[in-house]
Amino acid sequence: MGLQHLSRELMRRCDELGRVSDEPDRLTRTFRSPAMARANALVGGWMRDAGLEVREDAAFNLLGRWPCAGNPRAKTLLLGSHLDTVRDAGKYDGPLGVLTALAAVTALREAGAQLPFDIEVVGFSDEEGVRYQSTYLGSGALAGTLTKRALARIEEKDIERARRKRGELLAYAEVHIEQGPVLESRNLALGVVSGISGQTRVRVEFIGRAGHAGTTPMKGRRDALCAAAEFILAVEKIGVTATVGQIDARPGAGNVIPGHVTHSLDVRDFDDAKRRAVVEKLRRQAEAVAARRNVVLRWTVVQDTGRVACDPKLTRLLHDAASGHQAEVPSLPSGAGHDAAALAAVCPAAMLFVRCKGGVSHHPDESVKTGDVAKAITALRDFVLRLAHESF
Ligand SMILES: [Zn+2]
Repeated sequence: MGLQHLSRELMRRCDELGRVSDEPDRLTRTFRSPAMARANALVGGWMRDAGLEVREDAAFNLLGRWPCAGNPRAKTLLLGSHLDTVRDAGKYDGPLGVLTALAAVTALREAGAQLPFDIEVVGFSDEEGVRYQSTYLGSGALAGTLTKRALARIEEKDIERARRKRGELLAYAEVHIEQGPVLESRNLALGVVSGISGQTRVRVEFIGRAGHAGTTPMKGRRDALCAAAEFILAVEKIGVTATVGQIDARPGAGNVIPGHVTHSLDVRDFDDAKRRAVVEKLRRQAEAVAARRNVVLRWTVVQDTGRVACDPKLTRLLHDAASGHQAEVPSLPSGAGHDAAALAAVCPAAMLFVRCKGGVSHHPDESVKTGDVAKAITALRDFVLRLAHESF
């Protein structure tokens, strides 16, 4: 099967997988939902067709194994991404990486490649964290990096059995759409990832006093939503990437002063010290707003993960492999989180970004070019051959 054929088949498969959804008119696939089970069955079938040994682990990750080393002590190279999506998603964020890995392995098998390690293609069961609001559930379970706080929140108590033995994994490589505009603006198909930005997520609550919208005088009101509004505009001006994406005002009626407002806060930066300093500055600003408006502030940090650097040696191999198909291969930081961040805790991890139209992601308009996908498949295939050469 030639590369053109593999890339066109991959695009068709992304279309088919894009119709496997929990909702009739838009793409939504979340951890352990009926659509996730159908997606694992569909992709598992494609893995079997490619000659891989297919299983689901205790965290519902889909794994297709090629035991090419023929040696029970050989290490495993893990290639893949995630199969879950956000709500109203595009069809490439996640599946592109799983299917590129499968296509690269198909090309290697058909060429009769002899490798000193085994390969597993993985489709992680939960990266987006829609169901439990905690990211990297599938890859975190496999890497054994889930925190007690994350484990306490979930119903699937056996998930920890998905943890792989220490030293079993040789490396992890992931192909993903860029989710940003840099590659497109430079007219390039591929880029390597230098690292994944750290992030802090905070649940912010302002607690004031509800009251009648018609009879309570404006002076002396303790309006929790006005306090939140003032703070959210301060977040916008803080000078790093910071977002409030969710807000809930109680009691939630048009004729009642909001007494209790809860909203999210997401702060990201590549410099961990700077990010933590900014979060602390925002907390003090929220306190000042609350004091001025005579409301109470509750500040709960729900996630605080540091920057993750991709492995320099593995990234160089990926860079050199991509250089065979593109004169200049830039190195980009990733503002979005990825499964590679969880895997980097237990083995060398590297990522390859593929240009996406307008930098759009987490939206049905996600779009990639077949020619770029063909380059990504070849780059990943050549990366595996280069890694094999270095491992000998
Ligand atoms: Zn993703």
